[in-house]
Amino acid sequence: MLKGVPTLAGRNLRLLTTQAQVLVHQRAKASAAEPVEDFDQETDLLKRAKFGHTGKQLQQKIINEKNLRAPPLMNLVFANRKLSFYDTSSTPKTKEDNAKLSQRRHYSMRPHREQEQRNAEDVLFDMFASEETGLISMGKFLAGLKTTGIRRNDPRVRELMDNLKKVHKLNNYETGSSAETQHLNRETFKAVVAPNIVLIAKAFRQQFVIPDFTSFVKDIEDIYNRCKTNTLGKLADYIPQLARYNPDSWGLSICTIDGQRFSIGDVDVPFTLQSCSKPLTYAIALEKLGPKVVHSYVGQEPSGRNFNELVLDQNKKPHNPMINAGAILTCSLMNALVKPDMTSAEIFDYTMSWFKRLSGGEYIGFNNAVFLSEREAADRNYALGFYMRENKCFPKRTNLKEVMDFYFQCCSMETNCEAMSVIAASLANGGICPTTEEKVFRPEVIRDVLSIMHSCGTYDYSGQFAFKVGLPAKSGVSGGMMLVIPNVMGIFAWSPPLDHLGNTVRGLQFCEELVSMFNFHRYDNLKHLSNKKDPRKHRYETKGLSIVNLLFSAASGDVTALRRHRLSGMDITLADYDGRTALHLAASEGHLECVKFLLEQCHVPHNPKDRWGNLPVDEAENFGHCHVVEFLRSWAEKADQSSEECKPEAVTSKTQADEEICSTSDLETSPTTSPIPTPVESGSRAGSGRSSPVPSDAGSTASAGSSIDDKTKPGL
Ligand code: GLU
Repeated sequence: MLKGVPTLAGRNLRLLTTQAQVLVHQRAKASAAEPVEDFDQETDLLKRAKFGHTGKQLQQKIINEKNLRAPPLMNLVFANRKLSFYDTSSTPKTKEDNAKLSQRRHYSMRPHREQEQRNAEDVLFDMFASEETGLISMGKFLAGLKTTGIRRNDPRVRELMDNLKKVHKLNNYETGSSAETQHLNRETFKAVVAPNIVLIAKAFRQQFVIPDFTSFVKDIEDIYNRCKTNTLGKLADYIPQLARYNPDSWGLSICTIDGQRFSIGDVDVPFTLQSCSKPLTYAIALEKLGPKVVHSYVGQEPSGRNFNELVLDQNKKPHNPMINAGAILTCSLMNALVKPDMTSAEIFDYTMSWFKRLSGGEYIGFNNAVFLSEREAADRNYALGFYMRENKCFPKRTNLKEVMDFYFQCCSMETNCEAMSVIAASLANGGICPTTEEKVFRPEVIRDVLSIMHSCGTYDYSGQFAFKVGLPAKSGVSGGMMLVIPNVMGIFAWSPPLDHLGNTVRGLQFCEELVSMFNFHRYDNLKHLSNKKDPRKHRYETKGLSIVNLLFSAASGDVTALRRHRLSGMDITLADYDGRTALHLAASEGHLECVKFLLEQCHVPHNPKDRWGNLPVDEAENFGHCHVVEFLRSWAEKADQSSEECKPEAVTSKTQADEEICSTSDLETSPTTSPIPTPVESGSRAGSGRSSPVPSDAGSTASAGSSIDDKTKPGL
């Protein structure tokens, strides 16, 4: 996230771990003496956290705030019954009124869901509102929303934007601002966002597939800029329209399955779909006819030959629907089987409407000049058509001329990067368009389409592409590259210069760089394989889970689990909010074996302080675990003696997420009193029978030998 833009996730985390606990106590005390107004707990906590007030002070603050929230303007707005969002007014209502309102607004929702959402609206307001004015700047709010990847023109926030316009129109109070920069009070804000609150709350809670969209986008920009400097490749010149493209054109658009959008470069410049139309017409045929029928006419094998080569497979079928012969065949299925009763014009409209639905209504047009040129320069495509007719490849009633025209029309449909990224995202999303949430194709259809794209989508480079990038894609001669990361996002790259196999040079470089940075390759999920970034993971989630697992193992004396954590590369020095480490917990529970393992094998510092200044040895003492106290004291003594030999930090490795979270300064300030020798020194010590300052028990899991061996294990 951008600095300064609050998130619900961050806010909640801070609340949970900081003031909330303290405030709950304060509240309990205060409420015993003086009744507090009936505000929901989360909002209450937020207010207290935000303003730092308690007890009477807080009550006064809330009353003041409430007064502030009802300027004359808003009374006017609330009195206007024309506004549909009006019913979240704060004016006191009878129980019956409230029940009716609830029913009317969210009749399909359960009460707790509604309550949760109301809370979300309040929390959002508190996140962005000015303390001085008690109003929220919608400009700031919308900018915050944008950082999550949600655009103002997203159909899923249409009601919010419409409401803003309505309020602005009614609002004579603020003449200087626009609808999108006006300032609203709490109740109006809640009413304005209410229709889209589910999506908005999800966005600010960082619950999208790419939780930290801003960081992700930064990396994408870097890759984009690197590709921009690549000037290799040649424009396609078999028709004049393609030869006239600007070779410097370079656009990139991303749409995630949650509709998070990012675009950079020439993303609005129109170009024709060309071969990128092939997976789409194939999808329509599959949807309507099913794979059995479709694949009784066309194969599923990579041809291993040029995309327009005059060749059929051994069954006298075109090899697959991604090469020209296969795509012409698919077009014949549309004409003869999917819509046999439609005229050519109707089939064109019908097909275009599918493409449009997939793109969430974004730009799909038609370039007649390209169509005419395609038809002119189509000797090879006609040859393919006649060759297939000779081999009885087409269904009965096929009109070859109409089929060929339809094929050229599909290639000549016009679009841009923005629209194509939504189409790619619809494929990534199992056939449901992320921005309109319309179910366009069945997921089974998409599975088949992606399978063929994976093996046959990038001409004669398909095998290498599947190997290097490991993702379904489809390229076209106009310079497009549609990349699908299933269940994550769709990407469309467009740059006209092509390599000798017909793939966009910059697009290809982008795909290859993308998977070398992120673990998006189909097989990057193999265990222990990848150190690449996973933008799907929530940083706090990962770290939180690690800490819970680690501390739980230490508290329950489970040395095997600790060993497993260590082998997986986890940072064993992790501490919870109170600064309590695995060593604190093992010591306070009297698990000597765990204490030994942590010090001897994991080389954690023996003297981390928790937030109350307690060392692990203090914990052991407090809970009367003499054997642990003895061991820790003895370790500390030896550590002091051998302080010159100390390593600067604990020998642990961190997970990717931990790396991101720990700042360099964290590492620099990590305790330096570990008595652990460097690996070389360890070896010599082991040779002399001293693997640690404290002799291990014979039966200890932490033997001298294993201490050294462990340094060769993964993750160490
Ligand atoms: N219209 C082109 C053809 O059929 C499409 C080629 C392509 O994009 O691969 O030759």
